[in-house]
Amino acid sequence: MEYVSTRNAKKVFSFKDVFLKGLAPDGGLFVPKKIPLYNSRELEKLRNLSYNELATKIIFKFCSEEFDEVEIKDLIKNSYKNFRVNDVVVIKKIGKVNLLELFHGPTLAFKDIAMQVIGNMYEKILEKNNSKVNIVVATSGDTGAAAISAIKDRKNMKIFVLHPDNKISEVQRKFMTTVNSDNVFNIALASNFDECQKFVKSMFSDKDFSSSINMSGVNSINWSRIVVQIVYYFFSYFKVAKRSEKINFSVPTGNFGDIYAGYVAKKMGLPINKLIIATNSNDILKRTVTTGIYKPLKVEHTVSPSMDIQVASNFERLVFDVCSCDSNKTLKLMNDLSEIGEFKLEKEELKKIKESFCSESLSEEETKSVIKKTYKNQKMLIDPHTAVAIGAVNKISLEGNTVILATAHPSKFSDVVMKETGINPELPENLKNILDKKEKYEKLPQDLKKIQNYILERV
Ligand SMILES: *Cc1c(COP(=O)(O)O)cnc(C)c1O
Repeated sequence: MEYVSTRNAKKVFSFKDVFLKGLAPDGGLFVPKKIPLYNSRELEKLRNLSYNELATKIIFKFCSEEFDEVEIKDLIKNSYKNFRVNDVVVIKKIGKVNLLELFHGPTLAFKDIAMQVIGNMYEKILEKNNSKVNIVVATSGDTGAAAISAIKDRKNMKIFVLHPDNKISEVQRKFMTTVNSDNVFNIALASNFDECQKFVKSMFSDKDFSSSINMSGVNSINWSRIVVQIVYYFFSYFKVAKRSEKINFSVPTGNFGDIYAGYVAKKMGLPINKLIIATNSNDILKRTVTTGIYKPLKVEHTVSPSMDIQVASNFERLVFDVCSCDSNKTLKLMNDLSEIGEFKLEKEELKKIKESFCSESLSEEETKSVIKKTYKNQKMLIDPHTAVAIGAVNKISLEGNTVILATAHPSKFSDVVMKETGINPELPENLKNILDKKEKYEKLPQDLKKIQNYILERV
């Protein structure tokens, strides 16, 4: 499979380039030149596979020059051996809809599902090429924990994670700072998430710095994260739908990565009716789907912090697709965004988006009320991100069965869950000890040079 950048579709890249670079050299995002398509007979052959078998088949399609199928099979098996359930995910009926629980990995959020595979892919690729990397990543809480869990104690890699000091939940922080491993470094910056992200971007574009440390990234624009996330759309489809039946997915969305994986699944032939973009009050994507104008506003702090994002980076991949893979046009729109602070899609492009997507956003009060009602009616504790996805479904009437993605375990956001239900959601037994473990992290000021020096002294 060959890959191109959304901002220059002429130059092709291999999976290895795409994996190690993260972002294309022209600032665009990597996408496959051609997305593989299953017909309905081929789809039915996948129906009865176990999660690991299905993951092997699907992921192999996207990286077959880099790995053989047996390597992928072993890599998947290794990645999911510590998940708390057999089939990686769990599907539950709640009322008329289905909940797809994606939080049974080591750090209790769906990001573990892709990140564990990425950790193993790094190890294999670096071994084959006899090289080393230093991963630098900014986090609003869940990505950092999942990445540390996937990279800790591995050879040939170090990881530096920047988080906004005092702006993530205690459990989120402890998942990162209690990991006692020589290749893990936590930095708390006296700023917000957008600033952390900006520092990481500056370090990437500082070519002297980034090449001197062989810098690599695992943030949500990394194509391999998307590939691994495609799997659970297929897996849950087969569990809830009959042959060729169309269903909907509701996805709590921030950076547009998880839901974009659903869009790729649809392009691969999975019978999906609508993908529901569920957002909190940071509703840039709902405004875009309604008006065609993509315009970031100021970030609002909410009870679903992993979606407190105004620049939904992966949306560029959808823009490229609905512009008929015209990279010049995508580049122009992205230039508009950086120069005038917004871009506008044409009628035809917006129409294509509306064929596959719809969007709803929830206020803080609405989100809390979903948590409360779900406990009252179903006796089930849900986290605030999942609540946004459930609430969005309740606001829309759609044909067909719906699967709601449950992206985090309620214990990761225990304060708000406790407040709405009166019940303290407990951490899974094997994770309870993190609350008393010793924390290790460095507080640094908002100063690029100081952060770079900190990293240089430790690589
Ligand atoms: C990261 C995250 C999201 C948003 O996912 P995107 O891929 O950024 O859209 C939703 N819920 C939880 C719990 C998350 O950690």
